[in-house]
Amino acid sequence: MYICAIMVSCKQESPADIRTLHRTEIASLVPDTHHPTIEAPETVHRTVRLRLYPGDAATGILLTAIAGACRHVWNHMLADQERRFRLWQAYRIGPKPVPTFFTLGRRFTQLRNDPDHAWLKDYPFACVRYSLKYLADAYQRYFKDPQTEGKPRFKAKHFTVPAFTMPEAVRMDGDRLRVPKVGWLRLAGSNPYAGCQPLTVRVRMEGTEPHPKWYAYVCYAVPVEQVRQGATDGALGLDRNVGQATDSEGTVYALPDTDQLDANIKRKQRELSRKQGWGPKDKRPQSNRGRRVNGQLQKLHRTRKRKRDDATHRASRTLAETAHTVVVEDLNTKGMTASAKGTREEPGTHVKAKAGLNRAILASGWGQLERKLAYKAGQVVKVDPAYTSQTCSRCGHVGQANRPSQAVFACQACGWALNADHNAAINILVRAGLPSVPVPARGTGAAARGGAIP
Ligand SMILES: [Zn+2]
Repeated sequence: MYICAIMVSCKQESPADIRTLHRTEIASLVPDTHHPTIEAPETVHRTVRLRLYPGDAATGILLTAIAGACRHVWNHMLADQERRFRLWQAYRIGPKPVPTFFTLGRRFTQLRNDPDHAWLKDYPFACVRYSLKYLADAYQRYFKDPQTEGKPRFKAKHFTVPAFTMPEAVRMDGDRLRVPKVGWLRLAGSNPYAGCQPLTVRVRMEGTEPHPKWYAYVCYAVPVEQVRQGATDGALGLDRNVGQATDSEGTVYALPDTDQLDANIKRKQRELSRKQGWGPKDKRPQSNRGRRVNGQLQKLHRTRKRKRDDATHRASRTLAETAHTVVVEDLNTKGMTASAKGTREEPGTHVKAKAGLNRAILASGWGQLERKLAYKAGQVVKVDPAYTSQTCSRCGHVGQANRPSQAVFACQACGWALNADHNAAINILVRAGLPSVPVPARGTGAAARGGAIP
């Protein structure tokens, strides 16, 4: 119908008039046709990590080989790109070689047809080629900010986690995944998005070298209605501390106690440093015993990471389901965790203590909690963190004397006393200047709140 209208309007004007019209004027004649009658259902991306069972050792080796092909192609194309660039710099013949996914992908097709690289045809084309997407992205980041982003580097065999991505045409059937050139492999693990459309899968090896474990990170397009929704109203302030966070109702979200794990990790690190080739300055070839101990060490690291990850997931979910808006301090973690080492001329003080505090701050997973809140909660507001811990949440009196101890807040002006973190969380909430819709009662939190929220 629109096209008819244009044709009619064209007929009314003589052809000469149309030709003299400016391009923008013609564009204004064409109506905006971007109104699809049926809108596609709105979806969001969610990734699920599932255990992948190769079934037998040979299939596991085949998966490792696909990852190895990806690594080989990355290294080959990186060297090739550098060589092309050096030649171009020396002779300035032809166009500058650009490392985009498009150009790298074209070179990959040539490489695959090269008789010397005929073995590449044994591996899935799309998966291996997609490693060049990561290479192109690494180059883009480097060109954008050469100071902070390093140049893409070669991937060494023993320092690279075997992994590859299936970028398109993912085939899944119940609890099975089809890996091209390998076959159908079994998946295990709870999957809340089982019926949704899988978009991409990253297959990754974890675990020690003699006992590899494979995981599939499946990215789904999930309809918005199927995603767990947070609360629709209410606001909470959140004071993040070392090892715990407290909200403005007084609820404490503790991070897991990993002291025992930390001690085990330290012991394992000491054990590893005594192995041939694994010490900090040991240049001898790395021993197999060291490799085994390193596997045990990495296992402990993974356990600790999972524990912290779980704690931040739980805390962010509880917060998102309690209040629509979560107010946090705008913390500069990088500045806060800067080393106290100083320079050679002006050495810093309390270096060891600051290093310990830094480790504790980073281990608290503040950044992680914020990232998870960003997609679970309705809204995350950041406020200036200055003096939130020294201000009285009832009368607004500010003073260092308000904190008789680390845990207790006692106002010197009005005598108001409560837990210091709880007080800070209330200040953070008030600072956002939000209409404070009362949060539905949840046991001890509401009782502890009293009349604190203005
Ligand atoms: Zn006061």
